[in-house]
Amino acid sequence: MLNALFTGYMLAILSSWLKSSFDNYQLKNRSLLARSKCDHCGKKLKWFNLFPVLSYLFQRGTSTCCKKKISRNYLYIESSTFLLGCIFIFFEFSLSSILLIPFLVILVFLDEKYQEIPIWLNALILLVVSLSKENLDPIMLLNAGMIFLGLIIIYWLYRVFRKREGLGLGDIILIFSLSLYLEIPTIFLLISISAALLIVKIIFSKDYYKPHAFGSWLSGCLIGFILFQEFYEFANSVPI
Ligand SMILES: [Zn+2]
Repeated sequence: MLNALFTGYMLAILSSWLKSSFDNYQLKNRSLLARSKCDHCGKKLKWFNLFPVLSYLFQRGTSTCCKKKISRNYLYIESSTFLLGCIFIFFEFSLSSILLIPFLVILVFLDEKYQEIPIWLNALILLVVSLSKENLDPIMLLNAGMIFLGLIIIYWLYRVFRKREGLGLGDIILIFSLSLYLEIPTIFLLISISAALLIVKIIFSKDYYKPHAFGSWLSGCLIGFILFQEFYEFANSVPI
């Protein structure tokens, strides 16, 4: 029970940070660790303003600096991720799944909106993936390295012959991390399903010449894979 509340609250803090990174994504020179500011007057928030859900409730939805209404989106996002954290613990999700899901969700939004995957997000995903593997199998590392090298060659050929980027470098780093996480052949299944869905989207939207994000589809499908696997394992672990 305590474990669920703690995990839920940690996820609420993480989601609050990810939301502010998303909102401020286009601000130049903004440090990722910069102290949050008031949406209205721009004053730096105090430490007691920073508790997800609780600060909102104690302040009755108004800011302490300028007494204006705080957007309800904070409350909705923080309380729903809190609940999700509790649900994940109830269904005995692994820690790596619990951490990966919020990063993958924010990746979907960032990549769809800006068509790029920020390097810090790729680094965080790679970090969680590396920590989830207690002992990294050298064969797996080699496989992921070969996939990475293959994609770099495709990237380079595309640039040389078509004079533009076909696949972003961010996508390639993401695929490297995911191939460490999923191993062969699951990673190829993930790439195929994501590509098929993206093609369906392109056909339906009729935007044949516009660049499309691919990382978002990889992330979205991986969230599906993780949920399926975690619920499947839980269902099998409960004696009937
Ligand atoms: Zn203010």
